[in-house]
Parts: sequence; structure tokens; C-alpha cells
Amino acid sequence: MINLPKDDHSCGWYQALPPATPVTRLKGVQQADYAVLGAGFAGLAAARRLAEHYPQARIVLVDAQRAAEGASGRNSGFVIDLPHKFALEHPDPAHKQKLLGLNRSAIAQLDSLVQRHGIDCQWSAVGKYQGAVGERGEAFLDHFEHLMKDLGEPYRKVDHGELSAVLGTSYYSRAIFTPGGYLMQPAALVRGMADNLPDNVELLEQSPICSLQKEDGKWRLLGDEGEIQAPKLLLGTSIFTREFGYLKNRLLPVMTFASWTRPLTDAELARYGGKLNWGLTPADHAGTTLRMTADRRILIRNSYKHVPQYGGSTSDGMRRRIQADHRQAFLARYPDLAEVPFTHTWGGTYAISRNFTNFFGQLEEGVYASACDNGVGAAWGTISGTLLADLAVGADSAQLRDIQQVTGMPSINPPEPFLGLGVRSRIALAKWQSRSEL
Ligand SMILES: Cc1cc2nc3c(=O)[nH]c(=O)nc-3n(C[C@H](O)[C@H](O)[C@H](O)COP(=O)(O)OP(=O)(O)OC[C@H]3O[C@@H](n4cnc5c(N)ncnc54)[C@H](O)[C@@H]3O)c2cc1C
Repeated sequence: MINLPKDDHSCGWYQALPPATPVTRLKGVQQADYAVLGAGFAGLAAARRLAEHYPQARIVLVDAQRAAEGASGRNSGFVIDLPHKFALEHPDPAHKQKLLGLNRSAIAQLDSLVQRHGIDCQWSAVGKYQGAVGERGEAFLDHFEHLMKDLGEPYRKVDHGELSAVLGTSYYSRAIFTPGGYLMQPAALVRGMADNLPDNVELLEQSPICSLQKEDGKWRLLGDEGEIQAPKLLLGTSIFTREFGYLKNRLLPVMTFASWTRPLTDAELARYGGKLNWGLTPADHAGTTLRMTADRRILIRNSYKHVPQYGGSTSDGMRRRIQADHRQAFLARYPDLAEVPFTHTWGGTYAISRNFTNFFGQLEEGVYASACDNGVGAAWGTISGTLLADLAVGADSAQLRDIQQVTGMPSINPPEPFLGLGVRSRIALAKWQSRSEL
């Protein structure tokens, strides 16, 4: 038995979508030139790029759930150009420039897909705020400013008054605005990309793959009612990559959670007094991510859990406890909107590594993977999936060399129970330290 993805059905982004088109499941024996496992950002980008390389080839993209039900469709909807927190500290400026270039190329690719296919996903080039609440957060902001200067990237300091006018709350003391990031409705973007795949990509959903076998030079992806046979296999399975025996004790499963309100009424919007369509990430990384969506919903994301039994859906009890924490964060920021209820609370799992290194490359003959984006997978999944396809077909490019230079091997985890103890205490410490930003 392997851990199979089974995300909860309470993701607001997904529930807000119109009904999905009829599903096609894996049945019988399917022969393909390339099999791609996982229809998140990484798998979708990989399948698309393979199809661009070989328009006559048969590419089968398979997922255990509907596309957009996994982490890619249930995140906070930031598509970030800047290297993520730990990568920003990297001592080599060239390393950071490569990350920036790769992320920007992903954003350009998503932008072009959204425009070309008219994907209705609140795609907006509105940048992002990094907000501090008190002294501790402000110290992080000062450090962030210093890193931006080093990187030569544009940024703007936003004082308390200006910030309060945008956010509709005076909770934050100040922020730094960086203009390069985009916001989107993640489930709408992922579904839009899945609905507009090239003709020679076949998408099979609700088709869990339970094992991989190699026979006569071909990979067999075995499902309940059928199998896919292909000489080359690309894995966009994030943490679930471990289930097939790869990177087994190197990836760490982490879950984080979000809640959102219903759309504010006109009267509530007037009381809120801020602007629409902005996103704020916490200066202190274990704090709260906050968004006001283009369609008037306030979204709160915080809380991390180490989830060794990843794949199992979150229980109602767990979501209730998380929702209570989210409610506290919401009321601290928007006491005047106390009567506005949350309509959805959801969780999602992704992979991190102890050395914050992303894996990209070949795992064994005919098997390639992009796994472990350390929780910022919208841009990274897109570019790593794209370049994984290049690697699999043997196409060389400057970008492929760049991604190979900035990725590596996630470090080995200590055995249980030390691993669990260590991760849980790291999470608890980070939560306590950033309590003012929660
Ligand atoms: C609440 C939350 C907020 C986040 N906010 C952001 C954000 O604002 N910006 C950002 O960039 N990142 C964010 N992230 C992280 C981001 O969502 C992930 O890093 C990203 O989606 C990973 O993409 P992926 O394609 O690699 O993997 P996934 O999206 O996890 O896709 C893997 C797919 O593989 C499928 N799969 C796995 N095993 C099998 C199997 N055996 N058979 C068939 N299919 C299988 C799964 O069903 C899944 O669809 C957030 C995550 C969460 C949970």
C-alpha cells in the first residue's frame, strides 16, 4: 500500500469553480511515448513542453485526483519572482540571478498561457507586500531590504499610513512592496491549463498510480483499472515521489492551511475601507499570509504541521481547530468585520528539505523528477516541469544548465522518532517566535 493523495473537499478556490468537465480515467493498457505523473504546476508544464518538442508523440498525463485538487490548486495564489527566503541568503549573487531568471521565465510562460487561452483566474500583475507587525518583523524587513539592495531588485518602503489604506487594517506597522509577483486564483489557473493542453496530451484523472515496474525497457504505471506503458516517465508528484522509492528519506511532508470569507457585501466593503486584489506575505516567515481577492474575499493562511501520514485528507476536527486559529488572526486584523463568516478552511501538503535544496533531474534510466520546491511551487513547478521535459528529450539550453546549477540533492533526514521530534519542535519554536505576526 502506498500513500495516495486524498485532499479535502473544502478548498474554497476549488469550490468556487464552475462544475468540471467529465472525467477520463485510466482504463486498459495505454501505450505512450512519455508518461507524466501528477497534474500540478510541474506535471502540467512538463506535459506541455514534451508536446511542443514532439507534436506527433503520445503523452499521457495522469493524476490520482481531478487537476486543481492537489497543492497546486489550493495554495495562496502568489506567483513569486524573487528567490524564496533561504535562497535569498545565498552567498553567490549569480545563484540568485539564475533563480530570478528562472522564476521570471515561469511567470512569462503562465502569462502567455492565461492570455492565449483566456483563462479566467484573476491573473494580475500586482506585486506583493511583505508586512511586519512589530519589532521582530521590522528587523526581518530591514534584512529583506538589504537583500533586495544586494540583488539590485526594485522595491518600495510602505509606511504604516499607506499600508493601512491598502489593507483596510492598521495591524501592520510597515511593509516592503516588490513589484514582480503576480496573484491568481490557483484552482482556476490549474484547471484552465489542464483544459487547454496540446492535442497530443491525454489527461487521465481520478486514476491513482499504485506502483511502478520496469519491463522490457518500458515503465509500467499500474492503476486500479489499467496501466500506462512508456519508455520515459516524468514525475511531478512533489512529496509523493517518495512513495515510488525515490528521495525516500530526503523529502519532508509539511501541511499548511488557509481559510477565507465569503465575498464582502457592499456595506462590509465600505467598512473594510481598503483596496481589492492585493497579497501580503509575513516578514517573519512563520507568520500569516493575507490576501484580499479580486472578488472581495479575505484569505488567511498560517499554521504548519509535519504530516508523516500525508495523503490522508484533513479531518473535520483538524480543520475546525485550524479555523479557530485563523479566526483569531482575522479578528485581530478586522475586528469590524466580526460578523463575516469563513466559508471554507482547507489544508495542502508539499515537500521541503532540511537543506532547502530542490531536486531536479534524472533518478534512474528513463525516470526524471522535479520534487521539493520548499513551498513555493507556482513559479518553480512551472519552470522545473518545463525544463524537466527538455532534459528528458535531450534538449540543451542555457536555462537547463541554470536550473541544474541551482538545484541539488536534499539532505538525508535523521531516522524517526528524532525526525518527527526535530520537525515538530522547529515548527513550535517558529510559531512561538512569530506569534505577533500570526
Ligand atoms: C495552503 C498552501 C498555500 C501555498 N501558497 C503558495 C503560494 O502562494 N505560492 C506558491 O508558489 N506556492 C504556494 N504553496 C506551495 C505550492 O502549492 C506547491 O509547492 C506546488 O503546488 C507544488 O506543485 P507540484 O506540481 O510540484 O506538486 P502538486 O501540486 O502537489 O502536484 C502533485 C500531483 O501529483 C498527484 N499524485 C501524487 N501521487 C500520485 C499517484 N500515486 N498517482 C497519481 N497522481 C499522484 C497529486 O494528486 C497532485 O495533483 C502553498 C501550498 C499550500 C498547501
